[in-house]
Amino acid sequence: MIAQVIVDVAVKQTDRIFEYHIPTELEKSIQIGSRVVVPFGRRKVQGFVVGLTEKSEFKGKLKDLLVIVDEMPPLTPELVDLSQSLAKDIFSYRIKILQAMLPWVMRAGYRKLLVPNNDQAKQLPFFKGDPIDLNKLTDLQQIEKVHQLLRNDDAKIEYLVENRAKKKKENQYALALDSTEYTKIYNTLRQNAVKQKKLVMDIIENAATYPKSQNKLEKELGLTAAVLNSAVKKGWLVKKAVEVYRNPLAGFEDDEKPKPVTLNEQQQAALDQIASAINKRRSKTFLLEGITGSGKTEVYLHAISKALSQGRNALMLVPEISLTPQMVRQVKARFGNQVAVLHSALSEGEKYDEWRRIRRGETKVVVGARSAVFAPLDNIGLIVIDEEHEASYKQETDPRYNAKDVALWRSRYHHCPLVLGSATPALGSRARAQKHVYQLLRLTKRANNKKLPQVNLIDLKHVQFAGGQFDLSVDLVAAIKKRLEKKEEVILMLNRRGFANFMLCRECGFVLKCPNCDVSLNLHKDTNSMQCHYCGHSEPIPQACPNCQSKQIRFLGTGTQKVQEELKELLPGARILRMDVDTTRRKGSYKRILDAFGDHEADILLGTQMIAKGLDFPNVTLVGVINADTGLWISDYNASERTFELLTQVAGRAGRAEKEGEVLIQTYNPEHYAIQLAKTQDYERFYGYEMHVRHEGNYPPYFFTVLISISAKKEQNAAREAFRIKRYLMQHLGQETIILGPSPSAISRLKNKYYYQILVKYKKEPNLNKLLHHVQDSAQEARKYGLSIFIDNEPE
Ligand code: ADP
Ligand code: ZN
Ligand code: ZN
Repeated sequence: MIAQVIVDVAVKQTDRIFEYHIPTELEKSIQIGSRVVVPFGRRKVQGFVVGLTEKSEFKGKLKDLLVIVDEMPPLTPELVDLSQSLAKDIFSYRIKILQAMLPWVMRAGYRKLLVPNNDQAKQLPFFKGDPIDLNKLTDLQQIEKVHQLLRNDDAKIEYLVENRAKKKKENQYALALDSTEYTKIYNTLRQNAVKQKKLVMDIIENAATYPKSQNKLEKELGLTAAVLNSAVKKGWLVKKAVEVYRNPLAGFEDDEKPKPVTLNEQQQAALDQIASAINKRRSKTFLLEGITGSGKTEVYLHAISKALSQGRNALMLVPEISLTPQMVRQVKARFGNQVAVLHSALSEGEKYDEWRRIRRGETKVVVGARSAVFAPLDNIGLIVIDEEHEASYKQETDPRYNAKDVALWRSRYHHCPLVLGSATPALGSRARAQKHVYQLLRLTKRANNKKLPQVNLIDLKHVQFAGGQFDLSVDLVAAIKKRLEKKEEVILMLNRRGFANFMLCRECGFVLKCPNCDVSLNLHKDTNSMQCHYCGHSEPIPQACPNCQSKQIRFLGTGTQKVQEELKELLPGARILRMDVDTTRRKGSYKRILDAFGDHEADILLGTQMIAKGLDFPNVTLVGVINADTGLWISDYNASERTFELLTQVAGRAGRAEKEGEVLIQTYNPEHYAIQLAKTQDYERFYGYEMHVRHEGNYPPYFFTVLISISAKKEQNAAREAFRIKRYLMQHLGQETIILGPSPSAISRLKNKYYYQILVKYKKEPNLNKLLHHVQDSAQEARKYGLSIFIDNEPE
């Protein structure tokens, strides 16, 4: 038997499959999807079995596969298949995709692999799959048993504490065993070293309970910190960062049980269509277009119930941003323990934990953000993607997958429907519904019959500003005041964080830029620094112009921090919560802010686009957009679509319950169609107009696009390679295809590299994938000169 293995080696990316001979004693346990340890050059590395075969093409003698790491293969055959076709579609490498499918803790390099010596490994009962009687083990075997226990998934992640109160007192690291030191520990044991004997005995006998927190060890064994410190010094124990287990849904259990909801006619009609596809096991895509508040979530939940009642499982994707406690609570309330939640606010340990529950088949419903589309869920009967227009479903870094495409692939694999839901569907999705590739389901009324809020525009060109700044109009401030007097709540959005976006010298015109990127630095008052939002570079706030030493420097532009200060001055006594990347860095802070706002511990929630989506606060009656234009003039073809979406979404936060809502949008471009149509919240008209614009400009969805990005330390190297690629493509592509560029990218220098790009727009190019793979392979050669290239299929 021969295993075909993709090795988990980061530096030398290759999609080559390596073959290994499977020792007889491992044959029984090996499967497609198994994680294994194999010899690779002089190293032993982690890899994944993607195929099993009897015959090898390889002429020489195959090396032996060493170890099967997990009892249950982490990857299912489905995911192994998916990795192959996806790698090809998105110009990535198979190992990158396999890595993206797995929790961090399973990736090579995250921690050192514990690999027993080859010969010893084969002697061990574990590797033959027999049960172990601990008492009968020899010393050597016992050492290996410790190895094995550490390797065993259950032993690795420790549930340090059950409740949160206790957690605070626990250390944030635990003491783990260091594999190389067992022999020494044994020798010490034999020599009967008195002082540490207790500890050593514990290590030997209770290996499975490690890693342990220092507090726990001290208490259990009556040891002093000194003993433990010396054990660490000797290398018996290593300090290891641990993820403290916390139930990601902790605190949600006590919520009131959901009231049973009877679907209205439109909801029921939509559900019937979806349910029928579930029953008939049809891989059909639905576009559920429903205005904000029309009860799309209720349709999803009913459809999930339907899938479960058919004995099948359900996968639901939501944007990271809407994985709010509110949303999680709702699903959890409906499906209880059968739900697994995957999102970035979980610690790596928690993610791994949830992931294993899914893999073992202990959960039936998975809710998560983009990467949850790879959840090892079996027997899927329904896939839902909420807010399907969200750009965050596309990963911007390698592997550049779009979760919508992956979901479609999986829906075909499982013969189940895919439901894409949105109040403002992506133009491409809506166009596909128009052509009946997707089936359109529409919800045109708010479920609780509440009217959509009244939206008014404030033209910043002709307005009086409050305070000495140019951010808040007198009208907006007056409206906020009125709401606060009525004890109602206000949401304010400004899609720009920080205090000011640039420092300008009035004497010489100098703008302070990032030393690594071609962008200006942002002022952040709370950290007293100038920051780059792209590479994270940070430096002190200058007191004088770095160019001419003049003191005449100004900080221009605005951001959430600045507006927060202005609000404090204009509305003394108002309680303001700010939500942006800077205030939500710490785990749990997102939930804390929203809970506080929900409990009316604040009057105003001020934030970036983070606050635009999915929030449902009944007491919010006013939504203010401080500047609608922030995204309007960026050079993207979809700038209007993004602006329309964002405004419609944020407007939907107002007046969701009894009290009527009001929305005020400040803009310098009140006549722009994206803003005009957001005012009337008329998606259908926006769709019609924007499709016309796209048609005129040869943009998607009339054309497919591929972006080729070339970067190098030296600008001329990037440019030269870009022109070479363009010539190559021009020779091979059809007349109708448009090749734009090469041109410097929008941010031409980033992290000290120069970027050039080529955009290919095409309608039909059957060979394009092959050509681009060729381009990618040839660029491999040029890597030596510090050149790199990536290809983004359908960039957002
Ligand atoms: P959407 O996701 O489409 O914006 P939601 O699912 O958040 O809308 O629903 C908006 C509100 O309407 C929620 O408070 C929800 O509980 C309520 N709702 C949904 N369906 C019904 C129904 N059939 N009858 C009464 N209320 C409903
Ligand atoms: Zn100057
Ligand atoms: Zn930078």
